Amino acid sequence: MSIVPDTAAPNSAAPRLGGAGRYAPSPSGDLHLGNLRTALLAWLFARSTGRRFALRVDDLDRVRPGAAKRQLDDLARIGLDWDGPVVRQSDRMPHYQAAIDRLTEAGLTYECFCTRREIQQAATAPHGPMGAYPGTCRGLSAGERDRCRVSGRPAALRLRAPRTDFEITDRLHGRYRGPVDDVVLRRGDGVPAYNLAVVVDDADMGVDQVVRGDDLLSSTPRQAYLATLLGLPVPQYVHVPLVLNRTGQRLAKRDGAVTLADRLALGDSVGDVVAALARSLGFDGRTAAELLDEFDPARLPHGPWVLEPDGLLQLDRCP
Ligand code: GLU
Repeated sequence: MSIVPDTAAPNSAAPRLGGAGRYAPSPSGDLHLGNLRTALLAWLFARSTGRRFALRVDDLDRVRPGAAKRQLDDLARIGLDWDGPVVRQSDRMPHYQAAIDRLTEAGLTYECFCTRREIQQAATAPHGPMGAYPGTCRGLSAGERDRCRVSGRPAALRLRAPRTDFEITDRLHGRYRGPVDDVVLRRGDGVPAYNLAVVVDDADMGVDQVVRGDDLLSSTPRQAYLATLLGLPVPQYVHVPLVLNRTGQRLAKRDGAVTLADRLALGDSVGDVVAALARSLGFDGRTAAELLDEFDPARLPHGPWVLEPDGLLQLDRCP
């Protein structure tokens, strides 16, 4: 049961509670304004509720050399601080394996030999959620599995999900019911899958508040259900609106001057960038600390921020 009140106290002197919030970037490149805004929100939610704030580098996939360091530098430059050493997923392999072993011992995993193409071509199971794995390898006999292994096909390990949906509660979205399928726990190349790693990490890091972009809301019932199967607490979720480009797509590097370095090169200051992020959230601060003093989750906009990144942010005074 969570000991954390649902309402964040809108000031920086909130009493210290036991839990933690976190930000967990994938080091695939520089953070853009959308990532920085989500990180700022994760920090604000954590700090305004007296939580620790942790950083984790999700480096099981898509690592670009030097990106993690630049990401951490940018987070510090916009005024975020964090507690304890930065956690790296690549250092935590034995923890993921231990969780997989527990699920396997409980009879909750099976090997899957399907290729991505086969999964795309197969129809979704008649009563399964849309887009879910159709369960092709769920019922393989021991002999069939042996034949697949001998043929040299790399096997992924999937959850034998005992149910097809699960409900979570999100601070901004309310009750949300979404699909739980036979999610991949360990990929065919032996790397633990994101949905498993994130659940194991958050629990080990004492994270009881997950603030992240709302593009991840639909994966959350799977993760929360995995946590319950592993006997781990389900954190409080806050899925925040994304930053979109002018055509309504998720902001990306190709949209122009969208990283902190790009903005500084154009003549914006770090304060201009933080002020623009603050304005997009309905606040006036020019530093993370000022923003923390005025932060009130009830005032947050519910829709995305549409960004036209060409001009200087200091001139972009629209609410
Ligand atoms: N590393 C993931 C990403 O950058 C985020 C994971 C999470 O916040 O749960 O998309």
